[in-house]
Amino acid sequence: MQKEKIDIRNLSVKQKKKLHIYLRAVIQLLYFIFLPSAFTAGFAGIKYIFTQIGIGNEITITSFMTVLVVLCLYTIVFGRFFCGFACAFGTLGEAVRAFYVFMCKKLKKKPITIGTKVAGYLSYIKYVILTGIVILCFKGSYSVMQGKSPWDVFSMLHARNFRFERYTVGVIVLILLVVGMCFQERFFCRFFCPMGAVFSILPVLPFFSLHRDRENCIKNCTACTRKCPADIELPKKGSLEVRGDCFQCQKCIDTCPKSNIHCGIHVFKGNEVLFTLFRAALLFCLFMWIGL
Ligand code: SF4
Ligand code: SF4
Ligand code: SF4
Repeated sequence: MQKEKIDIRNLSVKQKKKLHIYLRAVIQLLYFIFLPSAFTAGFAGIKYIFTQIGIGNEITITSFMTVLVVLCLYTIVFGRFFCGFACAFGTLGEAVRAFYVFMCKKLKKKPITIGTKVAGYLSYIKYVILTGIVILCFKGSYSVMQGKSPWDVFSMLHARNFRFERYTVGVIVLILLVVGMCFQERFFCRFFCPMGAVFSILPVLPFFSLHRDRENCIKNCTACTRKCPADIELPKKGSLEVRGDCFQCQKCIDTCPKSNIHCGIHVFKGNEVLFTLFRAALLFCLFMWIGL
C-alpha cells in the first residue's frame, strides 16, 4: 500500500500550530540534551571582557568570546531565538512551570502566578545582577562568586557531577530558583538572568521581531499577552519597535485565534514551522562551526 506524503503546505492552520508546538518541544529537548552549556559559555565571554578591561589586558578572541560573539550576532538578527528554543536553563524553567501547572490541574487547584505588575518590577533585578557581576570582574574579585552560581550547579548536575562540597550556596540558590520557576514561567530568565539582561539591551534588527495586526484583532482579546511568558503586549504591524524582553518563543503566534501575529517579513506568515526549523538548524550549524 502506498503511503500518503505529508506536505506542510497542505496542513490546516490548526494543524500547523500543533506541529509548531511539538517542534518547539523537540528542539528544546535536543538542545537541552546535546548543547546544555551554550549559555554559560556565552556569559563567560562577558566576564572575560570585563576582567581583561579591569587588569588593563588586551581582549583576544578566546573560545568563550567566540560563543558570545556568535550568540550576540545571531540575536541581533533573529531576536532571542536562542532563549526561546535553545537555552537549557530556559527550557528547565519552562518544564518546571509546565509540571507545576499540570500537578495543580490534577489536584484541582489554581496555579499560583506572580502578578503582571510585580513581575514588571522584578524584571529589573537582572540588570542589577549583571552590573554587580561586571563590577566584580572589573575589580578582579569575581572569585568571591565561586560556588555560588546556580548555572554552575546546573551544569554539574547535567554532567552528572555531584561533588557539591564547595557549592552549597549554589545548590541552595538553584533550589530556590526551581521553586520560583513553579510560580512564573521563565522565572529566572525574566528576573535574574544576567545573560538575558545582555540580550535584552542588544540592538535587535526589526525584520524578525513580532508584531500584531491590531485592526484584525478580536475585540478585547488579550490571549497573546496572557500566553506570553514576558507579559508582552506586541506592537502594531508596521512598527519598528522591538521588545528586548521577547524570548522569541513564538507561543503568542501559536495562541492567536486569528493568526494575526507575524514578523516583519510577510513571506514567513503561515510558514512558522519551516522558519523555526531554519533558525534552529542555523544556530546548531554555527555552534558546530565554532566547536561548542
Ligand atoms: S534569559 Fe538566560 S537562562 Fe533564560 S533562556 Fe536566555 S540565556 Fe537562558
Ligand atoms: S511576545 Fe510572543 S514570542 Fe515574545 S516572549 Fe511573548 S509569547 Fe514569546
Ligand atoms: S491573540 Fe491575536 S487576536 Fe487576540 S489580541 Fe493577540 S493578536 Fe489580537
